[in-house]
Amino acid sequence: MEKANIIDLHTCIQGEGKFSGVPHILVRVSGCNLKCHFKSNICDTPYSSWFPEKGHFTFQDVEYLYVQNPQINHTFITGGEPFLDVSTTRQLIRIAKKHNHFVAAETNGSLWADLDFDFVTISPKLSNSIPVEGNEIMNTGGETYRITNHDALKHDRQRINLKVLEQLVKRYDYQMKFVVQDEKDIKEITELTAQLQVPNEKTYLMPEGITPEGLQQRRAWTIEKCIEMGVNYSDRLHIVAYGNQREA
Ligand code: SF4
Repeated sequence: MEKANIIDLHTCIQGEGKFSGVPHILVRVSGCNLKCHFKSNICDTPYSSWFPEKGHFTFQDVEYLYVQNPQINHTFITGGEPFLDVSTTRQLIRIAKKHNHFVAAETNGSLWADLDFDFVTISPKLSNSIPVEGNEIMNTGGETYRITNHDALKHDRQRINLKVLEQLVKRYDYQMKFVVQDEKDIKEITELTAQLQVPNEKTYLMPEGITPEGLQQRRAWTIEKCIEMGVNYSDRLHIVAYGNQREA
């Protein structure tokens, strides 16, 4: 059977946001319209964004994972950007619903599609995610890649689309989750959530970091900001437990 655009497929505990701690089936699709580069690291799944892999799994593999795990009733479709390859995502939702799952997605909030999700995590990318021209990163084959002006401009042009964000918050049950590094991010978050009228109980701040040590550096500061603003804190349980391992 032909491989679909699926690059990770496994069971896990949801590590972030409202459903933290709930067992899930995770399906990751390849491809993202953005190329994030935060202060201390690039996107934590560069194999889905900067250097997108070709699919490794078939829809039959997905079916099989549901049959093997009848004790799980939540699915998490992530990327990359699941609103990019809509036809793969539609098919994944169909399979999950057939197995009576509650189906959630994580999106960067810059692309619109009307899909049958029960819940959507919208994670708009702040200016702290803009790649810097000339910086060098490692591709998945271990070779050096120099960030171009085109990478930076394309990312910055696409990362916030207010019209799409308005559509998403209107259409879906959602949470809005932000990766935060410092005070500058708080200003952007406050402005954006006010513009979109996102209530505090749907807003989550999450410290930037892809290692337990990295998260620890910003954890207390992020918690203090959440208390100050009356919004929710999200940790990254999978990183705390396993580090930045691919199948965590
Ligand atoms: S939007 Fe998400 S998947 Fe895409 S580059 Fe940024 S962090 Fe990676």
